[in-house]
Parts: sequence; structure tokens; C-alpha cells
Amino acid sequence: MIRLIILGAPGSGKGSQCKWIKEDYNVPHISTGDILRKNIAEGTELGKKAKDFIDRGELVPDELVIDLLKNRLEEQDCKERGFLLDGFPRTLAQAKALDEYLNETGIKIDKVINLDVPDEEIMVRTINRRTCENPNCKEIYHLIYNPPKVEGICDKCGSKLSIRKDDNEETVTNRLNVYHEQTEPLIKYYAEEGILTTVSGQASIEDTVELVKKALKN
Ligand code: AMP
Repeated sequence: MIRLIILGAPGSGKGSQCKWIKEDYNVPHISTGDILRKNIAEGTELGKKAKDFIDRGELVPDELVIDLLKNRLEEQDCKERGFLLDGFPRTLAQAKALDEYLNETGIKIDKVINLDVPDEEIMVRTINRRTCENPNCKEIYHLIYNPPKVEGICDKCGSKLSIRKDDNEETVTNRLNVYHEQTEPLIKYYAEEGILTTVSGQASIEDTVELVKKALKN
């Protein structure tokens, strides 16, 4: 049982690291971004409310994501195996709401891993990112660093690759501004709780895996 949070700017590699962590630790991977995109694809009420914010690169209002997350944490798999939070919390209000919820249930977060990547690198990564459209696969590619064998097709499952609508230069610039203003303060928040480890996410995915493995063992 482990309870983890992965912090980092959009495109810092949170999703790529979560892929192996969820397998190695047998822990449910909870990406609020994935859940919101699924709601948009399915046309739910939540999806309708969230869509415009996501398309503009803004944050979805706290109340909506806090409710969504709490409901997910109530599910049996989280109770039995913990959680790996990816993309939540993104604001101090979210972090405080999570702490309150966990305090009520007597649960503690084991570790927060912060992936540190400079803005220039984030831009190169996100605008070249391609994601598998198959919701059960969601493999992530990069046209330069990690291209698929066949253009536009996922190596793993053969589904089509697509560009996330919010992975264009203008929206990424916006998402980075939002990150610095609203999410970066969480680094200090969790450092003060004594559970934060910052890891450089600048190198290859494989090298970053090694650094995160070390951080999780300490
Ligand atoms: P991600 O896939 O984590 O990059 O999230 C994509 C988009 O979903 C973000 O740019 C936000 O618009 C929205 N989103 C995801 N998680 C949150 C969150 N915890 N709080 C607010 N908005 C979120």
C-alpha cells in the first residue's frame, strides 16, 4: 500500500513515470486530466462544464475537481491499495481539501515527487507529444525523442495516435503560466510537510525512472 503524489508542470513527464510506478507498486493511477477528458468524450455534465477551461489551458474550478477526486478515492481499489495522484492537486485549495479529507479518514500521503523541467524543454515536449487514443492504452510518444515505429500508430496496441487539443503553443504557454502561478506554490507546501522530493526530469524517460526509483526508496 502506497499513497503518492506526482507534481510537475504540464509535459514534465508525470504520465510516463506513473506508467511504471502503478505497475511496480500495484497502485491505482488517478489522473484528473484523463478522467476529465473521458467525461468530455462521453458528453457527461462534468465534461460539458470542464471542456472550455481545458481547451483554453485554464484550470477547471476547484469544487469540480475536488469532488471528482474525493469520489474516486472512495472506491475500493484506493482503500485497498492506496493511490498515485497525477495532476492533482494543482492549487493550494485542492491540496488543503485533500489534506482535510485524508485527516478525517486518518490517512497520510507517503511521498510527493516533484519532477523539475525547465519551461523551454516543456514547450518542445508538449508540442511534439502524441497520445494513443485507446483509453485502455494511452501510451505517450514524442515525435523526436520517442517516435512510434509507424507514423500515427501506437506500437503497443495499433490504435491511432492523436494530438491533445491543449498541446499547442498558445495553450501550453497559458498552461505554464497557470502552473507557475497556481501549482508551483505546492512545492513549498509539501516541503514544509516534510514529504517532498524534487527529481530532475530533464534527462531521458529511462534516466528519470532511475532517479524516481531512488527517491521512492529513500
Ligand atoms: P493534464 O492531463 O493533467 O495535463 O490536465 C489537462 C487539463 O485538465 C488541465 O490543463 C486542466 O484544464 C484540467 N485539469 C486536470 N487536473 C486538474 C486539476 N487538478 N485542477 C484543475 N484542472 C485540472
